[in-house]
Amino acid sequence: MNSIHFAPITDQIDALLPQTQCGLCGYQGCRPYADAIARGMADINQCAPGGRAGITALANLLGRKVIRLNPAFGDEQPRLLAVIDEAECIGCTRCIPACPVDAIIGASKQMHSVIVGECTGCKLCVVECPVDCIEMQPATGINYDPNQARKRYQAKLQRQAALEAKKLERIQKQKQLLAKIKQPQS
Ligand code: SF4
Ligand code: SF4
Ligand code: SF4
Repeated sequence: MNSIHFAPITDQIDALLPQTQCGLCGYQGCRPYADAIARGMADINQCAPGGRAGITALANLLGRKVIRLNPAFGDEQPRLLAVIDEAECIGCTRCIPACPVDAIIGASKQMHSVIVGECTGCKLCVVECPVDCIEMQPATGINYDPNQARKRYQAKLQRQAALEAKKLERIQKQKQLLAKIKQPQS
């Protein structure tokens, strides 16, 4: 069966996932996990950010029994928000590519900040920081829109794919040029 066959159910599953894009489920993001569930390759209890409410929603959608969150994939906890200690930030930019939803702004040797309403709380930036100036705090009272997070995640993936395609094209052109130069003159 091809991926088109699974697309509608994958969409429905993805719509129930929190779009934190943290990878705790063992997949690169919410969409790949949704796809794995749709294909019967992953169970419904691997998303710690979604917690019990998420498992219940998935069980209802798929006509399955509600099961406990598998602790191998993390513990349920309240949504978090990354906060950068701007006085400590050295502007290395390492956190920017780590963020799956482009929620960090900054430039080389400048202080960086988190766009509060866009941070999913995935924690992926924390390990990248060489000076430990990113702290996760409870995101209490901060609005979060999973649909917006999904859009930002997809936009980032598309941008990365376009950059990768351009890079490959450049390498291909260089190879062709080198091959031309190496051709013996007649
Ligand atoms: S929120 Fe994290 S653990 Fe849950 S599905 Fe998305 S990437 Fe996986
Ligand atoms: S700022 Fe950090 S915690 Fe927030 S979404 Fe980006 S990588 Fe995840
Ligand atoms: S990784 Fe840390 S030090 Fe580097 S730019 Fe990000 S917050 Fe600043």
